[in-house]
Amino acid sequence: MAAQRPLRPARPQTSHRPPSPPPYARRHPGSPLIDRGGHRRRRRLHSRRLFGALTVLLVVLSGYLLCRFVFFKKALPVTAPDVSQRTDSSSALHSGPVSDPINPAPSGTDEAYDRAYAIAKTVLLVNFDHPNYAEPTDLVSVTGMLPACVTVNSGATKVTQETAQALSELFRAAEADGITTFILNSAYRDRATQQSFWDNRLKKDPTYGDDVYANPVKTVPATASEHCTGLAVDILCDSVPHGTSDYKDTREAKWLAEHAYQYGFILRYPDDKQSVTGVMFEPWHYRYVGKEAAAAIFESGLCLEEYLALYDLA
Ligand SMILES: [Zn+2]
Repeated sequence: MAAQRPLRPARPQTSHRPPSPPPYARRHPGSPLIDRGGHRRRRRLHSRRLFGALTVLLVVLSGYLLCRFVFFKKALPVTAPDVSQRTDSSSALHSGPVSDPINPAPSGTDEAYDRAYAIAKTVLLVNFDHPNYAEPTDLVSVTGMLPACVTVNSGATKVTQETAQALSELFRAAEADGITTFILNSAYRDRATQQSFWDNRLKKDPTYGDDVYANPVKTVPATASEHCTGLAVDILCDSVPHGTSDYKDTREAKWLAEHAYQYGFILRYPDDKQSVTGVMFEPWHYRYVGKEAAAAIFESGLCLEEYLALYDLA
C-alpha cells in the first residue's frame, strides 16, 4: 500500500481579507498623473460653454441697446417741463429740472427747458424783494381801443402798448361770450401817486408792511407796485365796482379767472399764495406777462414768484 502523500496543510481560512489600498486618485487628488486627458477635455468643454453663453449675452444686450436707442428716442415727448409735479420741495423750486446722472435728460427735454426758461426770462418781477425803479417808456391810452363791454375809469387809461392790445383782445372775447359790464378801474399809476397811498397807510400804522409774508398787505410802495410798470390793471364790474372780496363771485371775475391767461394775463395775487406774494388776495388785479408765460403759469398752478423761482429768476 502506497504511502499517502501528506495532505498540504490547508490554508488557514480567513474570513477577513486585508483591505485594499485606496485608489491613487483618492490618495493623491492633486496629482497630474490622474486622468490628465479627461481633465483637459472637461476644461475645454467648460470653456466652450462659457464662451457660447457670453456670446449670446452680448448679442442680446447689443440688440436691446439698439432698440432702446432707436425707438425710445423717437417716443420722447418734446413738451415743456411739467412744473406742477414739482411742488414737493423747495429745492425743486430752485434747481430747475432734476437731472439723472445715470440716465441724463435727452436733448428734447433740454430744448423744452431752454424754451421755457427763455419765456420766463421775459417776465418782469416786481415785489417787495424785487423793487422796480424804471418808468415804462411805451405807455398808450386805451381810450377808443376797447369794446363797449368795458367802462374805463378816467384815471385808468394808460398801459403799455402790448398790454393795451392784449386788453382789447381780452374784452372782445368776453363780449363775444356775452359779458358786457366790466369796469377798468385802475391801470398805470405814476410813482408819486402810488407812493402817497403807501405813505398814508404808514401814517395810520407805522408797523404796516413790516413782514408782508406773515401779514400780507393791500397797499404797496411805488417800488413794489405793478401799476407803476404799466403792465397791470384792476378789472371790476358794474355789480361790484370796488375792490371787495365779493367780486370774486361775480360772472365777470369768474370769466377772467378762466380765460385771462389766453390773452396773456395772470391773476397776480391768488388767494392761496398770499404768504408768497406778500399781497392780499385781489381777484381784480391782472398782470400782463404775454400769452406763452401766462399759459405756463396758469397751467402750473403757481404764482409768479414760484414760477420764476423754477428757473432761478426770483
Ligand atoms: Zn391792482
